[in-house]
Amino acid sequence: MTTEPTYRRGDSGPAVAAIRERLARLGLIDAGSIPAQGEPVFDEAVETAVRHFQQTRRTTVDGMVTPGTMRLLEEASWRLGDRDLTPAADPPFGDDVAELQRSLLTLGFDCGRVNGAYDPTTVGAVREFQRNVGLPATGVTDLATVQALNRLNRRMAHGGLLHAMRESEAIQSAGPALPGKTLVLDPGHGGPDSGVGAGGLIEAEVVFDIADRVKTRLEKLSVTTYMSHGPGGSPDDRRRAEKANELGADLLISLHCDAHSNPAASGVAAFYYGNDRFGHSSPTGERFAGLVQREITARTGLANLGTHGMTWDVLRYTQMPAVRIELGYLTSPHDAALLASQRFRESCADAIVIAVQRLYLPPESDSPTGVLRLAELRAQ
Ligand SMILES: [Zn+2]
Repeated sequence: MTTEPTYRRGDSGPAVAAIRERLARLGLIDAGSIPAQGEPVFDEAVETAVRHFQQTRRTTVDGMVTPGTMRLLEEASWRLGDRDLTPAADPPFGDDVAELQRSLLTLGFDCGRVNGAYDPTTVGAVREFQRNVGLPATGVTDLATVQALNRLNRRMAHGGLLHAMRESEAIQSAGPALPGKTLVLDPGHGGPDSGVGAGGLIEAEVVFDIADRVKTRLEKLSVTTYMSHGPGGSPDDRRRAEKANELGADLLISLHCDAHSNPAASGVAAFYYGNDRFGHSSPTGERFAGLVQREITARTGLANLGTHGMTWDVLRYTQMPAVRIELGYLTSPHDAALLASQRFRESCADAIVIAVQRLYLPPESDSPTGVLRLAELRAQ
């Protein structure tokens, strides 16, 4: 068994050079003070810097680089994004992990204490975050994850934090199970307003039919489900939102189909409350939009047009997370053929219900997109 050495004043050699370099990177020693000739020495300046470092790290202040201090110096040299953080039995430690933990907490993801350890709680929070932003929930903090974090943190810095925390708290206190939840389905248009008519289909009829299939499935799962209106009525979007508020709904899902003068326009898009100008958005709405989008595109032939923040009344006046789904273009022959088929409507309804379940699932019991089946949910 080898004992790791301790370095002290008067020592020299490559290890001392590495120590000087680390201290310089931390701004504790002037990088230019390394002598151009001769071996780098553990001199008085190094000792002072080590003491200072030990003080800020709340460890024994002795001015010597013991194996413990060496490890702390190593941890302190990492910046978020320098390396991929990968879950492991012997987890990575470092200032980059602490930086990650502070970011996650700011965004309302519970990663436990900021301890600089890439522990299971932190990995769970990373997975949760990745699902939120539509990245693969690998639990590995890679460059794409760091970039998404930085982007959201900038937005949150403008005042979305309280809103974000309130929503994620509501999700947590609602618990992981579907039974007992209240959901409002909002098929677009209705009554005299039939929405888009194209490809031999009428938007109001198509979305009401799909909403009805979702309702049947959710009721089998003991979810209290309401429609925002009957087939004969067409309240305005603000009224629909208010009705969901009055019902104390946990989630509102609004369904529409799109239209475009170009028949090549096709695919599905999902919208959540978001306003980039004020840096304010609904993180749960965004997450649910991502889940719905992934499930629908995995189960149907619809192209993925992504998720987008919008401030439409139905998203804005709802007090719960709300999502509006534009289920294909009736003006696209491809999409219209799908929307006319019973099988497609069934798949859409399955996808929406699975996305609802995923929203409330604890991260560790989640399974990959497109593989969860309704029968399994009923068994849970
Ligand atoms: Zn519409």
